[in-house]
Amino acid sequence: MVNHMKRSICAMLMLCISVFTLSACSLGEGTADESQSIAEMFAQMDEDISPIEPASSGEYNSKENAARPCDFTFEGDTYIKVNSNVMFDQIFGRGNYTLEELYSVIDKNKSIPKEYKDFFKKYFKELTDYYPDLELRVFAYNLKDVEMQFISEYDIHQNGGENVYAMYDYENNVIMLRDTLDYQNEYWDLISLRHEIAHMRNYFQIEKGEYKYTYRFYVFCGEEGSVGATVDEVLTVMFSTDPYYEEYINAGIENMGYPLATNELRVIVDAIDYSPADSVSHNMYLLEDRMNDVMGDKLDSHIIMKTFDRQQRENINQEIQQNDPEYEALFDYIACIYMTKYVNESMSYAEIMDRCEVLKDKLLTGVHNPEYVYTDVVDSAFSKYCEEHGITD
Ligand SMILES: [Zn+2]
Repeated sequence: MVNHMKRSICAMLMLCISVFTLSACSLGEGTADESQSIAEMFAQMDEDISPIEPASSGEYNSKENAARPCDFTFEGDTYIKVNSNVMFDQIFGRGNYTLEELYSVIDKNKSIPKEYKDFFKKYFKELTDYYPDLELRVFAYNLKDVEMQFISEYDIHQNGGENVYAMYDYENNVIMLRDTLDYQNEYWDLISLRHEIAHMRNYFQIEKGEYKYTYRFYVFCGEEGSVGATVDEVLTVMFSTDPYYEEYINAGIENMGYPLATNELRVIVDAIDYSPADSVSHNMYLLEDRMNDVMGDKLDSHIIMKTFDRQQRENINQEIQQNDPEYEALFDYIACIYMTKYVNESMSYAEIMDRCEVLKDKLLTGVHNPEYVYTDVVDSAFSKYCEEHGITD
């Protein structure tokens, strides 16, 4: 949660979770051979949907014999979980949108007030300037009939909870904002408006013929329940603030939403060269695969995803503890993944310890409860690296 009182921004996740609990996740159960057979099954489907190449090749499924599902997963006979935008050509029957086409979609939506139409257009121009080749089809799909509601602070709290500032309801495609919203003068209003619009980037449910396609970033994994919701939320923060990062920092804003988790994930995605824009065109399997590619056997990234969810939940409920072994493992993982990019054996002890300080500063930026940033674990990870590589003071 955001630590400013009444300054939190939140996705309305609670409203949409129940819809998906019936879908099971095949994470870790599939094989490359199964991907092939799924592709063959897919080729036999509706005539208006052309077959696609087996998804086991290509950038997304980068590991040979990777256990993760590729571009789509059958869950039941007619329910298809879409994992990447490779499927979008078939589902939307067209390529990516141009900005002008997106502007036209915005203009036609009567629920978006005139002033906000201009805001939306400017925002998408800035996003596409910052993220080249941004996938816009899911945005366009949701922008077509997104409903904007301006309601009282009381009603926001009634719907979302005490510390919620604004909301996006995935299931009903509704953005809920305060009726006092003043994005031209209040930075937090501006940040939250951009944030809620960004939530439209990676969710849809589309029925086509007898098939129902669902696309979303996080996944449901049987008895595990949902996994990755926190990372999705934090990527929404990053996706919507990165283009304006310097501007916000210069305005004195270090907390851009969920700073504890956001700082942690910023370090991870920087270390593995993952862009928040990747969360528009692929669900979390891509991020997990990239993390595992860099970290090898260190710790499966799926466990990190689940730890993020637990940390966020406990932080919001004020149940988070110090000296928790799982959070120690998380901070050790973060320190190690950071070192894969910024530390090497040719560096001196002092240079490496400088990097350690930089990392701790990154993790503490804007955090109001620094005792939950395990800086001692980060110190230990760096010391261990130096010991293992014979680098001494
Ligand atoms: Zn949100």
